[in-house]
Amino acid sequence: MSYLKIEGLTKTYNGELKALDALSLDIAKAERWSIIGASGSGKSTLLKLIAGMEVQDDGVVYLEGEKILNPEQKLVAGYDELQLVKQDNGLFPLSTVAENISRPLLQYDKDYAAERLETLLQVFGLADKRDNYPRQLSGGQQQKVAIARALSLEPEVLLLDEPFSSLDSLQKRGLLDELNLIFKSLEITVIMVTHDIQDALLLTENLCVLSEGKLLRQGKVKDIYKNPETAYVAGFFGPLNQIPGKPNQYLRPSSIVNSTEKGKLKGKVLLNRYFPEFDLLTVKVPGKSLPWQITRLERDVSEGASIYMSWEEDKILLLEDI
Ligand code: ADP
Ligand code: MG
Repeated sequence: MSYLKIEGLTKTYNGELKALDALSLDIAKAERWSIIGASGSGKSTLLKLIAGMEVQDDGVVYLEGEKILNPEQKLVAGYDELQLVKQDNGLFPLSTVAENISRPLLQYDKDYAAERLETLLQVFGLADKRDNYPRQLSGGQQQKVAIARALSLEPEVLLLDEPFSSLDSLQKRGLLDELNLIFKSLEITVIMVTHDIQDALLLTENLCVLSEGKLLRQGKVKDIYKNPETAYVAGFFGPLNQIPGKPNQYLRPSSIVNSTEKGKLKGKVLLNRYFPEFDLLTVKVPGKSLPWQITRLERDVSEGASIYMSWEEDKILLLEDI
């Protein structure tokens, strides 16, 4: 029996738009999954259905063999065991950090609630912010409060809907490292929706790719990276360069190396941008392919120059065009 089982979930809005199409996924306890997909591909709908906060047309979600009931089947929508953190963190602006985190604990035993609050303040490094109001916190701290609040009821599964999209990349990096360690120590199952593959790589080992309500891929992030199968999936990991005259053959920017031999692919450098570890070149290549994006370790070319490029055969990605 799998831990969290999603079976044939289908959801249509307004009788026509299919937001989810017979989606099935099995998740083991304490696994961490990212869900990635274009805007409108059904990611938020999936999280709401898992949390029992939305009514499906068809399909079932089971947590440890128990059917998750939707709001039409249950008096109070949602479950303590499944906590969803929405994109707009939903903090109460007139409540302090401590009040926000302990709000879900109001009906619980006072001693338990107080102890749980202290634990969460410690775990999330928020003890010195306990009396602050949300507006007195950075974006990253606010997200931590929202996640700490979701964990106050000791859920089995934490569902995060693009929780970091409002943070800058530096804030995010530190927060993701911290959360990674917290989630590991709690052995909690995490499903995070993101449109940024970097978030997925930093926080989760499993990836599920959605396209138009359908599950396109599922598996270990590293396996999907190595063998993305389609241009849509490969595109989430970064730019792709199409080999001229070979419609389904692509190269990643880092697969292309500097060649001094004439006879390799020749290109003209349109742009050269400085990155700390390499130059990022935009290169016009022959034929109809879009300009290539390549990384170059030798900082030896200027805009307007011609360069020769080569690559190992095994770096070529064969990708279907979807
Ligand atoms: P994502 O989170 O991947 O951007 P959503 O699950 O929010 O996608 O939406 C999937 C599709 O369903 C989109 O086309 C969206 O416009 C539509 N949709 C989502 N929620 C509603 C709703 N409450 N009413 C009508 N259409 C909706
Ligand atoms: Mg969404």
